[in-house]
Amino acid sequence: MTTDHPTGGHGPQHDCIFCRIAAGEIPAHVIHEDDQLKAFLDIHPIRPGHVLIIPKAHYDYYESLPAQLAAAIVHLGQRLGRAMKAAYGVERVAFLFTGTDVAHVHAHVVPMHEKTDITSPVYIEQQGLSFRLAPRADDAGLRETVELLNEHLSHAPAAK
Ligand SMILES: [Zn+2]
Repeated sequence: MTTDHPTGGHGPQHDCIFCRIAAGEIPAHVIHEDDQLKAFLDIHPIRPGHVLIIPKAHYDYYESLPAQLAAAIVHLGQRLGRAMKAAYGVERVAFLFTGTDVAHVHAHVVPMHEKTDITSPVYIEQQGLSFRLAPRADDAGLRETVELLNEHLSHAPAAK
């Protein structure tokens, strides 16, 4: 059963892992939480500090998000981007919606150390690449990352 959410999304879907994380039923390494959003570490990070931002309401696709909610996600991504640049000394932070893994809108925010951190096989000369899931990060390391990002996030105020 699904119920309508005030933002026009759906209420908790019991088979959706991100709805369960949003509700606090499944623990996560949380970086930020407010009325609408939750941001937490990807446990299979591309790089340490790889964060996922989700709306608490269930939407399948980013293009279905109300503009205000989409803006709130981007805005939090901007703050996280500044925090990651300060924490990791990187020049760029990637922000992207892909949705190939869990069908609950989530933005990936990834500190980019190499151009290939976010790429397509189209851009790679060598053919016949095979892909795997990134290794599971250990929880002690994830807890340290939460502390590091929170420290820098507190110095990354809202954009005006
Ligand atoms: Zn969901």
